[in-house]
Amino acid sequence: MTVTRFAPSPTGRLHVGNLRTALHNWLYARRHGGRFWLRIDDTDAARSTEAFVDAIRQDLDWLGLDREGEVRQSARTALYEARFAALVEQGRVYPCYETPEELELKRKIQLGRGLPPVYDRAALALDAAARAGLEAQGVRPHWRFRLDHDRPIVWDDLIRGPQRFDPARISDPVIRRADGSWLYLLPSVIDDIDLGITHVVRGEDHVSNTAVQVQMFEALGAAPPAFAHEALLVGGEGKLSKRLGSADADHFRAAGIEPVALAAKLARIGTSLPVEPVATLAPLIARFDLAGFGRAPARFDETELARLNAQCLHLMPFEQVADRLPPGMDARGWAAVRPNLDTLADADSWWAVVTGPVACPADPADADYLRRALALIPALDWAGAPWAGLTAALKAETGRTGRALFLPLRRALTGQDHGPDMAALLPLIGPAQAQARLEAALG
Ligand code: GLU
Repeated sequence: MTVTRFAPSPTGRLHVGNLRTALHNWLYARRHGGRFWLRIDDTDAARSTEAFVDAIRQDLDWLGLDREGEVRQSARTALYEARFAALVEQGRVYPCYETPEELELKRKIQLGRGLPPVYDRAALALDAAARAGLEAQGVRPHWRFRLDHDRPIVWDDLIRGPQRFDPARISDPVIRRADGSWLYLLPSVIDDIDLGITHVVRGEDHVSNTAVQVQMFEALGAAPPAFAHEALLVGGEGKLSKRLGSADADHFRAAGIEPVALAAKLARIGTSLPVEPVATLAPLIARFDLAGFGRAPARFDETELARLNAQCLHLMPFEQVADRLPPGMDARGWAAVRPNLDTLADADSWWAVVTGPVACPADPADADYLRRALALIPALDWAGAPWAGLTAALKAETGRTGRALFLPLRRALTGQDHGPDMAALLPLIGPAQAQARLEAALG
């Protein structure tokens, strides 16, 4: 059974890069008939807020990412304590007493000698008496995970391919602070084991964390999950702009972007598959494949997203949008305006063209022409194709074609120079309103 998770820290709103990570974990789980969990990484009590937890849930709901379950790290500290104690017992976790200033000095000396700034494990050399002495002075330890230097750290990344790290070149990571609070690394591994997570999809900024976490899984007696580290997201201009960095669900909602359009984009950029419009998430699930992701940054262009959004809307059936349409707009109305929408909100303004009022005084040069149209209105086949009938009759009577034939009618009947197909609009406008509008245009 495939099990994935999305593990945000509730210290801010999810931005587009986080939404992408969530989506990919969800798509992977759904593609493989598996489970998708939300894990709230709220060990940092000072920076985590309930409001951000709620916003995370709402944003995932908005995007359509349902979950099989949710856990919160703040509720799981007893489990972390137990696993931590076992690792201390095994000697895989050890207490350290250096101050940040001492560590910084050590680093400077190493760098000055041209050595990699790897923690020298001085604390491992302290005996029980030395430790007791420090603690008697009130020095409280922070804790490091002791990496096993005997063999390389390897994993086969589902996006980056074979990965290999020399543990001797990595500092034993600090996993717990002197005040007892947890850093991200170990609780994440404990939770991934406990929830049976099989696949971890996350940003490539986590690669070095994965290197040490692989050993933590092993130290806790578990096989590591499969990892997929994705290239980062960059803006249309090639870097992660400030704007994109702060682009959250509200930003897209305010721009009229449908969640499914955002998902269509985020599912495919950075992959070998084309970005294609969809009306639902289903086709994205069916073709989701981590193997298609490249290592080059994924380009996220908001102008292209706006275009994709329109294309997605043009695919949506009436039933999918019915509860968001202007009052009175039925399936025929939707079919008429749908091809002209950039955002769903545009349906309101096009529907106003049907319901009226519209005002557009006719050009005097068209007055005779519009009088002829007015005379034809009652006899049109209103249950059939009144626009085709009207324009065919006017063409025969006046010899007008093209713009001269269509534009004065469109203006008088809709108050606009452009808009949805008149063949679809005119039956919705109906004979009474068509007549009234032509009369009004004639003044
Ligand atoms: N809370 C971590 C983050 O937001 C989770 C990373 C992970 O997926 O393990 O970066």
